[in-house]
Amino acid sequence: MTDKDQKYQQNTMAIRGGYQRTHENEHSEALFLTSSYVFDNAEMAAQCFGDEIQANVYSRYTNPSVRSFEQRLAMLEEGEQCVATSSGMAAILSVIMSLLKSGDHIVCSRDVFGSTRVMIDKYITKFGVEVSYVALADLSAWQDAIKPNTRMLFCETPSNPLSEVADLEALSQLAKKSQALLVVDNCFCTPILQKPLNWGADIVVHSATKYIDGQGRCLGGAVVGSAELMEQVLGFMRAAGPTMSPFNAWVFLKGLETLSLRIKAHSANAAALAEWLVEHPKVTQVFYAGLPDHPGHGLAKKQQSDFGGVLSFCVNGGREAAWRVIDATQMLSLTANLGDAKTTIVHPATTTHGRLSPEARAEAGIAEGLIRIAVGLEDIVDIKNDLELGLSQL
Ligand SMILES: *Cc1c(COP(=O)(O)O)cnc(C)c1O
Repeated sequence: MTDKDQKYQQNTMAIRGGYQRTHENEHSEALFLTSSYVFDNAEMAAQCFGDEIQANVYSRYTNPSVRSFEQRLAMLEEGEQCVATSSGMAAILSVIMSLLKSGDHIVCSRDVFGSTRVMIDKYITKFGVEVSYVALADLSAWQDAIKPNTRMLFCETPSNPLSEVADLEALSQLAKKSQALLVVDNCFCTPILQKPLNWGADIVVHSATKYIDGQGRCLGGAVVGSAELMEQVLGFMRAAGPTMSPFNAWVFLKGLETLSLRIKAHSANAAALAEWLVEHPKVTQVFYAGLPDHPGHGLAKKQQSDFGGVLSFCVNGGREAAWRVIDATQMLSLTANLGDAKTTIVHPATTTHGRLSPEARAEAGIAEGLIRIAVGLEDIVDIKNDLELGLSQL
């Protein structure tokens, strides 16, 4: 971070942070679509390979477009360093592979992103890393799950799709006591709404695919934390190669420019929709931490600056009724993606959470009548009207 960047407020940093113009004086950030770099002479090549001088060698190691994105996101998360990755899953994989070893134990919130669970259960455990799952908001369950070999607490807050909230400050204290790292998946809030490092988390991971892109174009991810920890993550990333593409980094840089405005608009639309759903006669329950009677409301108010764009609600009649509502909507996109300008609708029990056993699903509170909405940026009147087309079927 340069001194010039440090004096900027968050919204300015999201637009101007982490970029140095090239000698061409371009106004919009340059895109460096190059896999490798040339050296002035043989001696310089030797020095670059020997790490005696820092220069670009190969884009699996460094790329100026990727670097700009990393610096801008690190500033927004108020972390020392950021390592960009090819996807959100690659970010989580890089954290686990670089910082854990065989015999270590992870305590993970049970309603993390579906692929996170599959990756840990099916692949990470093959290498002798153990895992226990706990309810996100149950602090004593986290405490009870910690063992002498626990080296990582992993959570995603607020949770998907029920909007449960973890106490980041309490979890970070628990992690410190147990010499474990607290890793927070901050995809749903983004640094605009929540900065987990400031609540004591050691590492933040992102799927940039969601709100950071904001328009559903590119896959990407990122890890943010102290220089010391990021050095280790970077080591794995360089050797193993789940690298962010320069083109995607350039799209994400543009995404960060409007992130703050978009997140506020997503949150405002979601809050309005949640209030409308609460009053709707066909809706039995609404899950959104922005609602005052949601159990996570107080904590969310403390550690987030707003409540984000994802909510879910329940209808009577189970799967059949939920599918009827979804199928009768016309504008909403039936897709599991989120963080897009376009509102999306999905039935968690048969899609995002379909791989869980019925018991695990029930334990996680994913009812058959539950519908998740990732509220986009369309006019709220049209979002309500479209959902009413669905709800009027019941
Ligand atoms: C989408 C998502 C991921 C995975 O990110 P990809 O970019 O799809 O690999 C991880 N965590 C959360 C919360 C997500 O929503």
